[in-house]
Amino acid sequence: MAKETMLKFTDVPRLMPEKRTATDRTEDFGEIYREFAEAKAAEQASRCSQCGVPFCQSHCPLHNNIPDWLKLTAEGRLQEAYEVSQATNTFPEICGRICPQDRLCEGNCVIEQSGHGTVTIGSVEKYITDTAWENGWVKAIKPPSERAESVGIIGAGPGGLAAADMLRRAGVQVTVYDRYDRAGGLMVYGIPGFKLEKDVTERRNRQLEDGGVEFELNCNVGEDISFNEIREKHDAVLIATGVYKSRDMGGPGAGLDGIVRAIDYLTASNKVNFGDSVPEFESGELNAEGRDVVVIGGGDTTMDCVRTAIRQGANSVKCLYRRDRANMPGSAREVENAIEEGVEFVWLSLPTAFHGEGSVSGVQVQQMRLGAPDATGRQAPEPIEGGDYVTDADMVIKALGFEPEDLPTLWGEPDLEVTRWGTIKADFRTHATNMDGVYAVGDIVRGASLVVWAIRDGREAAEAILERFNTAAATIAAE
Ligand code: FAD
Ligand code: SF4
Ligand code: SF4
Repeated sequence: MAKETMLKFTDVPRLMPEKRTATDRTEDFGEIYREFAEAKAAEQASRCSQCGVPFCQSHCPLHNNIPDWLKLTAEGRLQEAYEVSQATNTFPEICGRICPQDRLCEGNCVIEQSGHGTVTIGSVEKYITDTAWENGWVKAIKPPSERAESVGIIGAGPGGLAAADMLRRAGVQVTVYDRYDRAGGLMVYGIPGFKLEKDVTERRNRQLEDGGVEFELNCNVGEDISFNEIREKHDAVLIATGVYKSRDMGGPGAGLDGIVRAIDYLTASNKVNFGDSVPEFESGELNAEGRDVVVIGGGDTTMDCVRTAIRQGANSVKCLYRRDRANMPGSAREVENAIEEGVEFVWLSLPTAFHGEGSVSGVQVQQMRLGAPDATGRQAPEPIEGGDYVTDADMVIKALGFEPEDLPTLWGEPDLEVTRWGTIKADFRTHATNMDGVYAVGDIVRGASLVVWAIRDGREAAEAILERFNTAAATIAAE
């Protein structure tokens, strides 16, 4: 009988790729996990029990065929594994790095449920595609024939780029407009290099450009070109602009210098790491070096801010969050990484005021406890009487989440339908908006979400746009 390659989860323990030591990794902005060696990737993939009903797959937003590419990896058939993996995911090496796997594929792996530790799906996915790039298996975009139709995509984040990739492969003429000077959206200017090194995204941008996707960068739609002009230039338009309006907090002292928004702070840091000159960084306004930093919030953006501040050489970094660790929305893995790197988490702490003369020098903190569950079942934080103190801080970063910009007003398009939260209303399958030929995907529809969901939306919208073009072409041919 042939030797079984898979189902090794009882013999082979779960292993993540080696993590750089905290001292080593806080010296730079490089990724913290090293690559699996080939034998390790095969060994870890062989732990999969090849479920008949794979919950990992049903909980992956892209429904990646995980059991198949794990088996192919375990058998050393990496090129085939790559073919299967890229069939459902435009950027597998990016998702392998930054998906919150503990909440998606890995969190639903049956091996995890049975106490053996999940298959390390994300790391294997990253390994397969990085290997494919190294070996030249990643195919250039070469449409079989050119089509006359063109699509204007507003926003070069993962949603816009996933759609651009599919449309261009089908021969559609694609122009991507973005107000930033680089393509990639939050993958480039939000997410720091220690989670996603920039050349990983740049490589994809080059692939799209080489494949004929036109990029109009430094082009702010609504200012440099109107939305209506874009509609007139193209046969269909895709809005993929993300959400960038930072939630704010008021209170005494909220206007003091030294209190900054997370998106400005992270964008500046990412630009500096590209070698760009950033005056607000050079002046110290957006540089944590030597400062006592307090970051307010509990999500993934907060984790990225605290860990960036550590790498910039902050004197101390505290994270204030009004609930406890168990109720923090940020990834548990990232909290662990941040603690290892020297971040102090001050749970159940609500900032109520900022102190200082001109510049911030301290934050007034109200200690909280978790009270009775609210309507959603989540325990509401409530103040502890007398639990009030001041913590020193000469830099405060607000990471309280993001909301959509008011696109109908900014673009002078009052007919573009939005929800009561300001996100664009779009069909959940086709992503069509109420405007003919206008589609919308990613965070601007979902609210702040994940790269993997933006990729899914972008792929689905591309399919719907192609269907629209094909139907129109068939109608003309029949006339
Ligand atoms: P975006 O990536 O935001 O891209 C939108 C693009 O549109 C931008 O390039 C913007 O410049 C452009 N744009 C906006 N308005 C205009 C205009 N008027 N004219 C021209 N261009 C315009 N997700 C994960 O899965 N894992 C993570 O680890 C993770 N970490 C994150 C960390 C941070 C700090 C942040 C802020 C988000 C993080 N996310 C993470 C969320 C993820 O980045 C987003 O969900 C995802 O990028 C959304 O993709 P998108 O294409 O909808 O929009
Ligand atoms: Fe898991 Fe994300 Fe990859 Fe899906 S895309 S398999 S959720 S890491
Ligand atoms: Fe393999 Fe886990 Fe997916 Fe089952 S749920 S197919 S064991 S990765």
